[in-house]
Amino acid sequence: MTDPIVRFALHGGAGVLDPNSFPEARRIEVVRTLRAIATRACDALRAGTGAIAVVGQAVAELEDAEFFNAGYGAVLNADGEAELDAAIMDGRDRSAGAACAVRAVRNPVRLADAIRRDGRHVLLAAAGAERFARTHGVATCAPEDLVLPIRRAQLAAAQRENRISLDHDERYDLVERKSGTVGAVARDRDGHLAAATSTGGMTNKLPGRVGDAPLIGGGTFADDSTCAVSATGHGEMFIRAVLAHDLHARIAYRGDALPVAADAALAAVAALGGEGGLIAIDRHGDTVLPFNSPGMYRAWLDGDRIRVGIYRDIEAD
Ligand code: ASP
Repeated sequence: MTDPIVRFALHGGAGVLDPNSFPEARRIEVVRTLRAIATRACDALRAGTGAIAVVGQAVAELEDAEFFNAGYGAVLNADGEAELDAAIMDGRDRSAGAACAVRAVRNPVRLADAIRRDGRHVLLAAAGAERFARTHGVATCAPEDLVLPIRRAQLAAAQRENRISLDHDERYDLVERKSGTVGAVARDRDGHLAAATSTGGMTNKLPGRVGDAPLIGGGTFADDSTCAVSATGHGEMFIRAVLAHDLHARIAYRGDALPVAADAALAAVAALGGEGGLIAIDRHGDTVLPFNSPGMYRAWLDGDRIRVGIYRDIEAD
């Protein structure tokens, strides 16, 4: 028996955010964007659009917003290139698609979904993924078209201290640009779940480095019998903890409630030294958005109301 009540959550990255150094105008712009994208997603779900279409569209819109670390405006690797990762998964049948280390695709989540729909493979990388995009109707671009000039200064700051950093790590971020990896999870009117995540990874990462976002079970996972999950944070630790599948498994094998499973899975990341957060919706429609960093951009449907948050205690709306 399913209930027709829809659920939705999105994130715009977790990290070190100092409320005192976050310009008000930028905060308002980010909050407005998160709310607008969440509102459109919820309207679509209420109108009967499936969860998989809604998470793909929401993540594509987040990729298009230049202040997130995904698609246009993503962070740069050590060679000064935007190398993008994304994944999408449908909880109905566990069909999944992902692309990693792509440099010529404006909306990597669209490429991930094309790979999912094609069905032959789950994860395509670099040049092969870009070739797939060209032959499957996914828009490509020149790699330079993804680079926002301000990201070069962020990379230079990280390289001066030989650091690989989360997008909005206070020490290496540009004050006016504190936002990161993006993701969305949804439960549609038929009770189906889906998840999608997209990122440029970490500033000053080695060329060819792939994070958790495109790894099914790492940063992205969905199964109608348990939950849909999208993560953000230090990818290496999320991969080692197999965060998204760990959360699913705690519900599937132990019968844990979603909040218990999510906290335990995130604690396993923290035990490895990882910082970040996740958004998840379970088959009952329960929604959690835990993080162990000072902040995580997030928006979610709470009853009939869309809530937006950035910091732990500061309600953004
Ligand atoms: N998880 C992403 C990665 O490691 C980064 C982030 O969430 O900000 O690629």
